Amino acid sequence: MRSLSRRIRASGASIALVPTMGFFHEGHLSLMRLGRNLADHVVVSIFVNPTQFAAGEDFEAYPRNPERDSELARSENVDTLFMPQAKELYPPGFESYVRLDNLSTRLCGRSRPTHFTGVATIVTKLFNIVRPRVAIFGQKDYQQWLIIRRMARDLDMDIEIVGAPTVREPDGLAMSSRNCYLTKKQRIKALSLFQALKGARHSVAAGTKDVDRILHEAVRAIGNPSDVSIDYMVLCDPDTLEEVTAIDRPVLMALAVKVGKTRLIDNMLLTPPAN
Ligand code: AMP
Repeated sequence: MRSLSRRIRASGASIALVPTMGFFHEGHLSLMRLGRNLADHVVVSIFVNPTQFAAGEDFEAYPRNPERDSELARSENVDTLFMPQAKELYPPGFESYVRLDNLSTRLCGRSRPTHFTGVATIVTKLFNIVRPRVAIFGQKDYQQWLIIRRMARDLDMDIEIVGAPTVREPDGLAMSSRNCYLTKKQRIKALSLFQALKGARHSVAAGTKDVDRILHEAVRAIGNPSDVSIDYMVLCDPDTLEEVTAIDRPVLMALAVKVGKTRLIDNMLLTPPAN
């Protein structure tokens, strides 16, 4: 990958990188299409990164289908599919990590305290191997996108970080490789994440400024069915992820909900009406 990248860049061509954990869905494909428009050569990486999973999470169970992924990447005219091995990326004695002080402790960082260090580290490694001009991330994982942008800025990485909008199923469920874990009944319950966000967007657009009221309505939209528990639900500043006390400017609503054993996340920007 390193020598291929060197050859591509020596020829004057630019590289777009789309980092993924594979098991492609339309969300991944939308990132690849964006990459096609942003650079000459599109590299998609598939790596289920062990350092971003904590003990007891779904690293082993994470869905994998490299053959199907290769076909889908080919049909999207991806130039290079990079599928490194964990033992190559984390050789014995590996001990260097990239850690963000604050952003990585908020939202998902509360219940997954080591997660974003794993993410920032693997993305840095992929950047150093692939040397892209631009890298594309989905806003479905809003906190991840923000963290990568902050990291690239703080560490002077000469790479443009582009965010792509969340791709949803026709009924609104955000696409995720983990949706395949859901039973039919859980799949129906999972729709409440989107319904809660949509309700909040509507209330804020109608002029509601009260954070507690928005959260209360959203908790009600999730309801209390068996199998469903809210990990977090917050209204926060889209740049710092600090919780807000009033909605007087666009705020990010983000939530994580466990449906059965599957932890689902989603988010939406809520914009108050212009005065
Ligand atoms: P993953 O394979 O889940 O790690 O995701 C790889 C990339 O695809 C990340 O940048 C994700 O944010 C992005 N992604 C995942 N799901 C979606 C979606 N539904 N819409 C847009 N991007 C997504």
